[in-house]
Amino acid sequence: MSEAEKEIVYPGDKVGTSEEWLAGEGTYQEKGNIYAAQFGKLELDEEDLEAKVEAINPVVEVEKDDVIYGTILMRKKSMAVVTIDKVEGASRDVKQDVEGTIHISEISDDYTEELENEYLVGDIIRGKVIQVEPTIRLSTVGKKYGIVRGCCQECRKPMEFKRKKGKLYCPDCEIYADRKISSVYGKIKLSR
Ligand SMILES: [Zn+2]
Repeated sequence: MSEAEKEIVYPGDKVGTSEEWLAGEGTYQEKGNIYAAQFGKLELDEEDLEAKVEAINPVVEVEKDDVIYGTILMRKKSMAVVTIDKVEGASRDVKQDVEGTIHISEISDDYTEELENEYLVGDIIRGKVIQVEPTIRLSTVGKKYGIVRGCCQECRKPMEFKRKKGKLYCPDCEIYADRKISSVYGKIKLSR
């Protein structure tokens, strides 16, 4: 299983049953089920039949109130998991594999009904760090926060921002998308 495919789990998330797996490092067993004991990456070891959760270390380089750029890694019903790529204004680079989460209530100033209407996997966002311990939490509330590069849902290419409509547009597929778009969309040079 490649790194990218490993699922991010939270303490208390059910990761399997004790009929299927042994409770390995970072997990615990209760009433026939195995749960994650820490925030981390789930690894289901087919050889040893062991479920493990590898902790994701909180990173000293990211501080509360930092403005960050990150990539949407995955979406859950009530939150998006973001890989933090860069801290704005800092020469320091972020260690690899640093992840934060955005709760659905911290996406926009308005009420967000469906997270999947706002962020797609692969979108690059500008967000603010609102918590670093025990886990990194991000917010994109505020005009300047949100997507700075959005992917087309059909062809996955970066979309253009049509300021008049306030929507993203894919010229190849000729479709518009409504998302939580940052007011600095298209104004920021992204090095990757
Ligand atoms: Zn497209």
